[in-house]
Amino acid sequence: MYDQNNIFAKILRKEIPCKKVYEDKFVLAFHDINPQAKVHVLVIPKGAYVDFNDFSNNATKEEIEGLIRGLGKVVKILNVSETGYRYLGNNGKDGCQEVPHLHLHIFGGEKLGKMIAK
Ligand code: 5GP
Repeated sequence: MYDQNNIFAKILRKEIPCKKVYEDKFVLAFHDINPQAKVHVLVIPKGAYVDFNDFSNNATKEEIEGLIRGLGKVVKILNVSETGYRYLGNNGKDGCQEVPHLHLHIFGGEKLGKMIAK
C-alpha cells in the first residue's frame, strides 16, 4: 500500500520544499538532502508507486518512458552525461530503501569507486 504521507509525496504536493533540478509531466528531480557524492540527485515519478516492483507492474508505458527520458534529461542538466555517473535504485528491505516512493539516485561529479561497500 502506498503511504500518501511519505516524504516524497509531501515534496510532490509542495508541502515540503526541495532543491529542484528538473520537472515535467512525469518526473520531479531534486538534490538529495544528505548528499553521498559531489552530485547526488533523486529522480522520482509523479505517480504514486512504492518501489520498482510496483512501478514495473502498474505504471503506464508513458510513465515508464517518462521516468527513463527524465533521467536522461537530468544527467545532461547536471553536466555528468559525458563525465559519467551512477544511477541506482534501492528496493525493499534488503535494498535498504528508506522512502516508500520509487526514486532513482544519480551520483556523479567525482570518481565513485566500487558499487557495493564491503
Ligand atoms: P533510499 O535509502 O530510500 O534509497 O534513499 C532515500 C534518500 O532520500 C536518502 O538519500 C535521503 O538522504 C533522501 N531524503 C530523505 N528525506 C529527504 C528530504 O526531505 N528531502 C530530500 N531532498 N531528500 C531526502
